[in-house]
Amino acid sequence: MNHFQYHRGQLCAEDVPLARIAEQVGTPFYCYSTATLTRHYTVFRDALAGLDATICFAVKANANLAVIRTLSSLGAGADVVSGGELRRALAAGVAPEKIVFSGVGKTRAELDLALDTGILQVNVESEPELTALDEAARERGRRMEIGVRVNPDVDANTHAKITTGRKENKFGIEWTRAREVFRRAKQMAGVEPVAVAVHIGSQLTELQPFQDAFTRVRDLVLMLRADGIDIRRIDLGGGLGVPYDDEEPPSPEAYAAIIRETLGDLGCRLILEPGRLLVGNAGVLVSRIVYVKEGATRTFAICDAAMNDLVRPAMYDAHHDIRPVREPAAGTPLRAMDVVGPICESGDTFAKQRALPPLEAGDLIAFATAGAYGAAMSSQYNSRPLVPEVLVAGDRFSVVRARPSFEDMLALESLPEWLTPDRG
Ligand SMILES: *Cc1c(COP(=O)(O)O)cnc(C)c1O
Repeated sequence: MNHFQYHRGQLCAEDVPLARIAEQVGTPFYCYSTATLTRHYTVFRDALAGLDATICFAVKANANLAVIRTLSSLGAGADVVSGGELRRALAAGVAPEKIVFSGVGKTRAELDLALDTGILQVNVESEPELTALDEAARERGRRMEIGVRVNPDVDANTHAKITTGRKENKFGIEWTRAREVFRRAKQMAGVEPVAVAVHIGSQLTELQPFQDAFTRVRDLVLMLRADGIDIRRIDLGGGLGVPYDDEEPPSPEAYAAIIRETLGDLGCRLILEPGRLLVGNAGVLVSRIVYVKEGATRTFAICDAAMNDLVRPAMYDAHHDIRPVREPAAGTPLRAMDVVGPICESGDTFAKQRALPPLEAGDLIAFATAGAYGAAMSSQYNSRPLVPEVLVAGDRFSVVRARPSFEDMLALESLPEWLTPDRG
């Protein structure tokens, strides 16, 4: 369910025609819907009703300040994976006591920042990191509450690049070492182990991997309590998938039922870290067709968005629905087209042999379900400026990230003195 629908022949974000935004902002641009963000958040929150649950939005899915603020104003905290994301979450107004810091390679500077900002919890992912955090905390006379992220060695059955809970993945502390690591942590003056954390992957479309992982977490919590370690929180990570194509991911209610069943009786506060689920469907990338080119064997629609703006198709073979912004008349015959960007890489292809209504140069299209891992993963490859982001609420819209000028883009670069022309 989302709020990008046709009204009077025009694809709209809530009450705003995307064509109108394109006119004012130029293409390509990302557009997010407040009503869709709100709906996804409330459906997820309501599914967890009755559980002591804190929803920490995984900022890496969409790090725009206005998106973070929209979710935090509904009650969300933040899950961050870098010092930069921590600063963003704070800048967006998320309360430090609702921020969890995850990630496999937190530097000393990032750990210092976590300590100095007083966030809820750092999820430790390795023994050297545990040692480093203990040291940093003791230097400040602090005791940081931590989660230990364990790797439950379950297969999430998702794309290889976004599966994170197998023992060959870099994430978390090996399942079989977890007990020992908690025991070590308990003896440290700078940290207090209070949580078990897991995150097994992204875009999961089955419940079984969650069930397997949460059952292992349950066993671990009981074992740790028997060891005298007071586990008060469980961080379940994110990972619940969204429909891009014909997937049918489990509903938040079904996911919550698994949580109740496996962990509901432990008396722990639960931390959930959904990313994609909250923002995926709440965003589109709008682009204009530059040329339609008849190739030897196929037709190419070349658009002004490229893999640097939305890398998911190139990186994960991901599917995004493509919708013409002007609604095609009912019964318009479809034709197979490749929709590609202008970058000099064959991977710069959004769709191959996709059945679409006829497209012409100048037409606008919208890549659906682009709100997660879209703008957040974009780059300036080919010296293409990062595309603007627009947030819609009802009949209002606002540019919440401006397109940089070329002067902005060049401003951080300089020529060394040996390359500057000799004026002498
Ligand atoms: C990426 C990530 C998430 C969010 O994953 P989604 O699939 O977007 O829900 C949550 N927690 C951690 C630790 C992550 O790395």
